[in-house]
Amino acid sequence: MRIAIIGAGIAGLAAARTLQAAGIEAVVYDKGRGPGGRTVSKRTEHGSIDLGAQYFTARDPAFQAVVAEWQAAGVVLPWSVTPVVLPERQPARPETRLVGVPRMSSLAKHLSDGLDLHTEVQVSEITRELTGWVLRERTGETLGEFDQVLLTAPAPQSQSLLAEPSPRLATEAAAAHMQPCWSVGLVLERPLEVDFDAGFPSSGPLGWVARAGSRPDRPHLPEIWILHATAAWSEANIEWSPEAVSEFLAQAFGDLLRRPPAIAERVAHRWRFARARGALKAADGYLEHEDILCAGDWVSDGRIEGAWHSGCAAARRLISAAERSGSPQGGE
Ligand SMILES: Cc1cc2nc3c(=O)[nH]c(=O)nc-3n(C[C@H](O)[C@H](O)[C@H](O)COP(=O)(O)OP(=O)(O)OC[C@H]3O[C@@H](n4cnc5c(N)ncnc54)[C@H](O)[C@@H]3O)c2cc1C
Repeated sequence: MRIAIIGAGIAGLAAARTLQAAGIEAVVYDKGRGPGGRTVSKRTEHGSIDLGAQYFTARDPAFQAVVAEWQAAGVVLPWSVTPVVLPERQPARPETRLVGVPRMSSLAKHLSDGLDLHTEVQVSEITRELTGWVLRERTGETLGEFDQVLLTAPAPQSQSLLAEPSPRLATEAAAAHMQPCWSVGLVLERPLEVDFDAGFPSSGPLGWVARAGSRPDRPHLPEIWILHATAAWSEANIEWSPEAVSEFLAQAFGDLLRRPPAIAERVAHRWRFARARGALKAADGYLEHEDILCAGDWVSDGRIEGAWHSGCAAARRLISAAERSGSPQGGE
């Protein structure tokens, strides 16, 4: 049994590791420069800035056990922070918030160790042929033949890949609404004197602000703040240039603090499909139709923990299919 996994975010990596542990051959393709998907960090001359997922929670005991292994491996630590709602400063819901160390993407790097991972490969076509599924790259090059395909790209990207091979799954993917997010990193000339490390502004264009150096294992200087625009603002201004967005959101941050920060550098990243607010909450944790499976946060509950569970659930389904077909060890 040979399986292709499209996407090396948390869901794809969880699936690949589960399959590898069961002795099943899994080849992972990702169009990005490295693994991690929405947990990647952006490298700048001031170090890495976590412009995607900010932290994750572990609410389920099975996931808590996995997180304990990651903590033992030194790639994850709790972030002792209590975000406040701004400007009132009421504390947000208390819970353990976890981050990759020394950067968010460290977790994906750890998870991809030993996997058959091919980055900078954008799968553009999945075709059923007599001998199995054939994947093609954007260049038209064939990536090989596979018995089953697991697709973990965000819902809109999965939808377009599924239109030919499985209109049924494409329709299901179309039902999962994903929201965009403009994310900005502000490198400051001098630290800000504010009495919080992270907050959820209750009005205006910003939905999240956080002092990067308040997370474990990050440098404190230069001080860097991460700003996320709300989904509504991001959607309305999705085609703005990164320069215009970073300038506007930096100004909004200054308004929020009632003083303009002294900015040394600004970086912005547009996430067209950031959060799966309309996640499908699929009962099995994955979707399946004729040897194609879909997993990811949009199939489950829109969070990192959900993406992990979804990838593992899809892999368990593939393992039981391999056992039924008599090739659990990835043989003929
Ligand atoms: C700004 C932001 C803030 C967030 N904050 C939080 C938070 O605080 N807590 C939390 O739990 N979650 C948060 N999230 C959501 C979290 O990041 C996701 O739920 C999780 O990372 C999704 O993992 P995934 O594997 O399902 O998808 P992804 O991480 O999106 O992985 C999918 C992968 O598929 C690849 N891909 C897509 N199309 C193709 C193709 N055609 N060929 C090859 N590869 C392809 C992509 O490059 C990507 O690497 C946040 C996300 C963003 C963007």
